[in-house]
Amino acid sequence: MMKGSRAVSGLDWLRLGLAVMVARAIAFLVRRLRLGAASVLPGTVARRLQPQILSLLCRQVTGPIVLIAGTNGKTTTSLLLRSLLTHRGWQIVHNAAGANLENGLITALLERTSLVGRLGADCVLLEVDENVLPKVLAPIQPQFILCLNLFRDQLDRYGEVDTISQRWRAAMSDLPSETTVVLNADDPTLSYLGQQLSQRTIFFGLNQPADYLEEIPHAVDSIYCPACGASLDYQGVYLSHLGDFQCPQCGFKKSTPALESQDWPQILIGLYNKYNTLAAVSVAKELQLERGQMLETIANFRAAFGRAEELRVGEKSVRILLSKNPVGMNETIRTVNQVTQDRGQERTLLLVLNDRIPDGTDVSWIWDVDTEKLVQQGGSLVISGDRAYDMALRLQYSQVGQGTGNGERGTGNGEQESNSPLATNHEPLTMNHEPLNINKCQLIVKEELQDAIATALELTPTRETLYILPTYSAMLEVREVLTGRKIL
Ligand SMILES: [Zn+2]
Repeated sequence: MMKGSRAVSGLDWLRLGLAVMVARAIAFLVRRLRLGAASVLPGTVARRLQPQILSLLCRQVTGPIVLIAGTNGKTTTSLLLRSLLTHRGWQIVHNAAGANLENGLITALLERTSLVGRLGADCVLLEVDENVLPKVLAPIQPQFILCLNLFRDQLDRYGEVDTISQRWRAAMSDLPSETTVVLNADDPTLSYLGQQLSQRTIFFGLNQPADYLEEIPHAVDSIYCPACGASLDYQGVYLSHLGDFQCPQCGFKKSTPALESQDWPQILIGLYNKYNTLAAVSVAKELQLERGQMLETIANFRAAFGRAEELRVGEKSVRILLSKNPVGMNETIRTVNQVTQDRGQERTLLLVLNDRIPDGTDVSWIWDVDTEKLVQQGGSLVISGDRAYDMALRLQYSQVGQGTGNGERGTGNGEQESNSPLATNHEPLTMNHEPLNINKCQLIVKEELQDAIATALELTPTRETLYILPTYSAMLEVREVLTGRKIL
């Protein structure tokens, strides 16, 4: 079945065939020469040769195309949705985590495209960057757009969250009226966006006041009504700015979720994943999945978690957990703590903090992360990245903040105790090779990423897992090192 109304000429298809052939050759070479995972470059080249490629490939998809956007949870949600949809027996295309810009989307589709440009897919799930979403709606013509949340970590990249939602709205309003937009009702910006669209909308959200945060965070004082600009009233907050809210001035309020959240179990742990679960279920339900099948998949999802992100290195496993903002990193810490509970001192983590453009150039967000919970559980923490020392400092303060460090802190070199965590260690962080023991946590700073990975792998016991917590650009680098020829 061909979708879309624009006439496609024979020449268009010819150029598509050429683009596919070249892209496939590039992917083959990149992998053969072990230069990386080839998750973006083939798409970049193919788009040069056939600028219409995204549209030409997407119109061949026989079943639904689902786009998944939002600051946090794209990968988890799409992995769950993919697991749910395997019940339909479909051939599903899904882009690799992180390859969510236009060329990454094209590359994912090319993986399933024959040399004459025929795409073999019944269903396409694409994680899409917030800023790229408006540009790809017209060529892709998705049946579903899943909008998870908009957190402020993108402020320094793209400007106000409101600007993004306005761009989304403008692009979405050009889509056919049967396009279904699934939105998080608990996020004021997205609730409002949904209320403005003439397309079909479905909301998901929580209805469980027992899970409200004990106190309403001060930060929500600055959450303004998207309709009139007044400060929103929150009855309760579940997480960050997500909660039950209404505007005292114009009557705008949270949209009504279609599912009763209390009727559904969730994957993994953390309220955050409750949102991810409800989001995936909302789409799966539209695609005629039965409740029984969904419950079974949700219950078994643990095994699949992070599958896309798990790599084997000899007899050890490496699990990469993107940690790019406070909400995401808190969730990662909670998860790692849970799965390593019984390892204690044996566990090894590698934290990689970069401050490049895709990460947001301001790293002060790490001071909003509950790193205290990370150091509490001990183990070896290897630290790397452009801003390795900022992260090391954060972790040192976390240890001091425990209140358990007094009297035990230090490496036995007789330094004076002081209230300042900096004063207690004389230039400890400039010593690259001397591990710094803070209570039961061993902090090791390695500026060079390859060096850091090698050290962390060495510290990881055989048959155990190394957990890597990188920012976005750091994640790409880590993958490159691990899958490329650099050290392995
Ligand atoms: Zn208002």
